Amino acid sequence: MTRKTVRDYIRTIPDFPTPGIMFRDITTLLADPRGFRMCVDQILHPYADQRIDKVVGLEARGFILGGAVAHQLNKGLVLVRKKGKLPAATLSQDYNLEYGSATMEIHDDALQAGERVLIVDDLLATGGTAEAGIKLCERLGAEVVGCSFIVDLPDLGGRERLTALGIAVDALCA
Ligand code: 5GP
Repeated sequence: MTRKTVRDYIRTIPDFPTPGIMFRDITTLLADPRGFRMCVDQILHPYADQRIDKVVGLEARGFILGGAVAHQLNKGLVLVRKKGKLPAATLSQDYNLEYGSATMEIHDDALQAGERVLIVDDLLATGGTAEAGIKLCERLGAEVVGCSFIVDLPDLGGRERLTALGIAVDALCA
């Protein structure tokens, strides 16, 4: 019997949320205790010897992963949210979507200058969401040690986009 990999716990749903999109559904991974633990362990593996002061989760599935990763590291979790969701004073960062643009926000006191952060999200596509998260962290003076994802969709160029910013990118599967 071959051992299941993280990829084996993820299912692909055709035509969600719109026709033609093949949506990677990670709820089946999260629902399986072995799958979820394997995923968190593998996200942490490259950072075993590095100092990380905070974990930053990108809305919304990055919050689930970020919470587990932060708990495992015994570090705090910082939320990067869509515009208008955070209650206190924020910094905003616009980014482009295929059609139009969107805005991510962070509390302006969420990170201290010099803190080393690991950004986590479920999936890397064009890299726009992660780039907005990186910029928000850097505008607060933090150093982004890396960005970790469960899934990388390599055809969409996100890895190249983030690597061009000098950020280490890790993904558990494609
Ligand atoms: P990007 O900004 O890299 O183009 O898109 C990544 C964001 O879109 C992530 O926050 C991710 O949660 C979401 N996303 C886009 N496509 C998918 C998908 O197929 N599955 C999941 N789980 N998330 C997706």
